Amino acid sequence: MRFPDTLSPDLAMNGSNPVVPRPTNEPVLTYAPGTPERAALKRELAAQAAQVVDIPLLIGGREVRTGDTFDVVMPHEHGHVIARAHRAGPKEVDAAARAALEARSDWSRTPWEERAAVFMRAADILAGPLRQTLNAATMLGQSKTAFQTEIDAACETADFFRFNSHFSEIVDGMQPVSERGIWNHADHRPLEGFVYAISPFNFTAIGANLSGAPAIMGNTVVWKPAHSAILAGYHIMRLFEAAGLPPGVVNFIAGDAGMITADLLARPTLAGVHFTGSTTVFNGIWKTIGERIGSYRGYPRIVGETGGKDFIVAHPSAEVAALRTAIVRGSFEYQGQKCSAASRAYIPKSVWTQLERDLIEETASLTVGDPRDFRNFMGAVIDRRSFEKITGYIEQARTSADAKVLVGGQADASKGWFIRPTILQALRPDYTTMCEEIFGPVMTVYVYDDKDWAKTLELVDRTSPYALTGSVFARDRVAILEAIAALRDSAGNFYVNDKPTGAVVGQQPFGGARHSGTNDKAGSVLNLLRWVSARSIKENFVPPTDYRYPFMEAE
Ligand code: NAD
Repeated sequence: MRFPDTLSPDLAMNGSNPVVPRPTNEPVLTYAPGTPERAALKRELAAQAAQVVDIPLLIGGREVRTGDTFDVVMPHEHGHVIARAHRAGPKEVDAAARAALEARSDWSRTPWEERAAVFMRAADILAGPLRQTLNAATMLGQSKTAFQTEIDAACETADFFRFNSHFSEIVDGMQPVSERGIWNHADHRPLEGFVYAISPFNFTAIGANLSGAPAIMGNTVVWKPAHSAILAGYHIMRLFEAAGLPPGVVNFIAGDAGMITADLLARPTLAGVHFTGSTTVFNGIWKTIGERIGSYRGYPRIVGETGGKDFIVAHPSAEVAALRTAIVRGSFEYQGQKCSAASRAYIPKSVWTQLERDLIEETASLTVGDPRDFRNFMGAVIDRRSFEKITGYIEQARTSADAKVLVGGQADASKGWFIRPTILQALRPDYTTMCEEIFGPVMTVYVYDDKDWAKTLELVDRTSPYALTGSVFARDRVAILEAIAALRDSAGNFYVNDKPTGAVVGQQPFGGARHSGTNDKAGSVLNLLRWVSARSIKENFVPPTDYRYPFMEAE
């Protein structure tokens, strides 16, 4: 008997049928004064801030340095360089695509449980010895507070790896029925070609998942991280290596996004795109693939999670303190740079009269500054481009007859890209900042007449082209049911009496529809199914030996 060369005879013959340990979410550490994690993180922050990391391209397991570099700075101290990253040129992009295809042969035939073991090991190394390395890189490079970093870089990343390992077992177990005499079997093959993963700046975990999810299903990947998240991305690559991911399974390249993307989308071997970022960029990718559709070996899988204009809608029965806290945390944590961040709220007059003063005072009291000072609730926005875009919306509101600035609006770019948390009041429900994604610490409130609850739900649904997250605040059960029904298509992640941010892997699979993406639910089995192309195999134990059927016999 011959065995496939990636499966040792011992393993194949012992009849093992492995079961992935049931995943649970990585516990979130508090970083409260006196805790060991706080001391360890502070040490690591000081050490990393004192270095300038040289970040190579990682192609086929090799470090590649082109000498054409760009500086990576801290958004909260933009004069401080923490890394220099090498840019890929056309030669390196070609090498990365080739390395992925070369690695595919072995990796695609590696048994699912062996692939899962690599990712489970990565989760445990991350949760243990590498936790503060990745946390510090995320805090410094992306300007996140200790808590925002912990829930992203440490916990969500480990959760993606552990839950995806469990989900890959579920996919393998999705087998068809068989009638007597035959045995049917589903072979969950990885896609034929390479997968191109393109990640945004705002979550370290998203980069890990965009590259890791296709890889756990046996695909090989070319991963282009966002420039401003490249330091954390580089540590993810080191983590993959430490966990035993074979060279070439994930290839890491930075550089001109347009050039890299044009090159990779032009290859007949492109098998899929795993994207998270803005709607405009995703639309461009989809269009290019559409124009070239006849040139690919197969139909590339296109998975994209994109923009949002996430809402909070309050009913007259809403609990005011809970609503206030949800607006503050949901709109301003991580400077409003979460795709799920609340950025428009609909409040009935009767609630607004109880809420307005406290909400303004609480927002004015929020601390903004360098996240290495743990007293700060917010850091800086990611870069100059974002700073200018966000302050542009605030300036427009100052001079508009249709809006007023209730609190915040101050911005200071002298040391870092700092913008105070800002609440605008829109005097018309279709004012610009009620409709467009701003991606910064700006919340716009629209106050409605209590009697217009049903009309307001329609307004929430109609006002923006997105459908990512949203929440309803009400004590009245009927109102909750009305909102759930009226807003069924308005959000892919919907919350009742909770802020619309903070989805947890395995608990609230994440993604939106309409212009918010393909809704393939990161952190669920639905996403992993996009990275396989099943083959149905039928074995006939006693095949027929005569072509004639009984109906053909003489009466
Ligand atoms: P972005 O679209 O500017 O960049 C995302 C990625 O695309 C980066 O790697 C970037 O280099 C690359 N890119 C930029 N121009 C490109 C081009 N012409 N061709 C190919 N690639 C290109 O987004 P961002 O600023 O990094 O992230 C913020 C956006 O991401 C927001 O719109 C936010 O809503 C969205 N987002 C969505 C989700 C979700 O799950 N729906 C999660 C996080 C972020």
